[in-house]
Amino acid sequence: MKVSYGDTDPVFALATPLAESALALIRTSGAIDLLARVFSRPEKLLSAPGNSTVHGWIVDPEDAKKIDEVIVSVYRSPRSYTGEDGADISCHGGIAVVKAVMASLKKAGFREALPGEFTFRAFMNGKLDLTRAESVMELVAAKTGRGREQALRRLTGALEREISEIKTQLAEVLAGTEIYLDYSEDEFFDPSNDSNDEKNDEQAGRLPVRDLAEKAAEGLKLLAANWRRERIYAEGALAVLAGRPNAGKSSLFNYLICEDRSIVTSAPGTTRDWIEALISVEEIPLRLADTAGLRGPGFSGLEEETEAERIGIQRSLELLDRADLVLYVIDGAEGFTGEDREFLSARKEAAGKKPILILWNKADLKQPPAIDKETGALPGQLLSVSAKTGEGITELTRSIAAALEAAPPGINGQETTGPGSLRQKELIDSALASLEEALALADREEPLDIIAPLFRSAINALGEITGEVSSADIFELMFSRFCVGK
Ligand code: GDP
Repeated sequence: MKVSYGDTDPVFALATPLAESALALIRTSGAIDLLARVFSRPEKLLSAPGNSTVHGWIVDPEDAKKIDEVIVSVYRSPRSYTGEDGADISCHGGIAVVKAVMASLKKAGFREALPGEFTFRAFMNGKLDLTRAESVMELVAAKTGRGREQALRRLTGALEREISEIKTQLAEVLAGTEIYLDYSEDEFFDPSNDSNDEKNDEQAGRLPVRDLAEKAAEGLKLLAANWRRERIYAEGALAVLAGRPNAGKSSLFNYLICEDRSIVTSAPGTTRDWIEALISVEEIPLRLADTAGLRGPGFSGLEEETEAERIGIQRSLELLDRADLVLYVIDGAEGFTGEDREFLSARKEAAGKKPILILWNKADLKQPPAIDKETGALPGQLLSVSAKTGEGITELTRSIAAALEAAPPGINGQETTGPGSLRQKELIDSALASLEEALALADREEPLDIIAPLFRSAINALGEITGEVSSADIFELMFSRFCVGK
């Protein structure tokens, strides 16, 4: 039978990786009495209060053979993660042990939890709103300290509080508008003024509590503006090294990944055209890509362009289009060449959107010209670096962080939050669009009865962010992206 998130059967899941380790954690939720069937001290377990631990053995319910010595942490509803009675089993971290314990739990009547099902239950039981539930997953996926801090901020309700405050403001705006609509005909107008035309003018021209609607719009704009930073913390920004062959791209790539002691991964790209490593630059997760194959638009140096090269260049260009930041490397020993100028002037058009840093590499051999006729017209900042001596690398990492505008939250003493997922960002945008349309209609003195529904849709969009108004299938889709055991 197909199980779904709505089912409330007792569930279990391995919360740690299935790999040899000192300990493993298997969580259960929904029935401590089922667990008692496979526990050596059932009475002790059944009478254990919440937030206590019980020592004993997991046994096979069929032949009563001991499987492993464990510690069970007992949680009682509603003071548990899911809101249900639950128990976490800490067993030894052997693969065979974990499999045998899980087999016993199945025999006892538990089923395997779906991905994110524990958090789904927590949400359904009112333990978490959707922004907090999503932040649990963000926390698991956080790659740098700051990513973790931002996810934690949402877990403690920072986003939910901001959204609720804006929603309350909008509810007041809507109530004010509706009251005005309900009573305007007989109470808000001078009875002596019985001209219908004038009455409509009067009603149209004023948006009650407009200040509050504007304040709500400002709040939404601020949240939306923080999305770029939040996305960078969550997924990492993509920085692409480009430049002529021999400029020193690979050397800089290697220097940067070795410099960073907190490398998370370093793996070849999916194709041979570039390699990518995830590093932490000033606590910003940075996906650094070295486009070995790039020559670029107008890099006409290729006389005999093979099919493979053509595809390689095409892929590298696509990568450049996706980049959050371009690091263009100049071979300092040779200086600016025609190809460099062609590339940079082609990027100049795109530079408005995409920051570019121009790295004068091999500065140990030759410093950049103080005033080059080029430098005044460059589309980005010129930095002098050396992949050989490390000169200028600190300045480079600072400039990378600055170019990404991923300033840490609270830089001016003000802690700010933002959307942690595309879902949240799109709903914030949709609420803002409705609100701005409402304000624009009010500016044009349109009647309030066409403006009021826009406030309502803005409120609904915000309700979807926290999960007050959403359909079950949306929840299923969201939680199915979680990992098992969370
Ligand atoms: P790529 O083709 O752009 O990836 O260039 P490489 O990283 O392979 O470097 C080309 C050559 O320049 C190699 O011989 C490097 O050792 C040398 N090189 C790279 N960076 C520097 C530097 O900062 N200073 C000096 N002196 N040589 C460098």
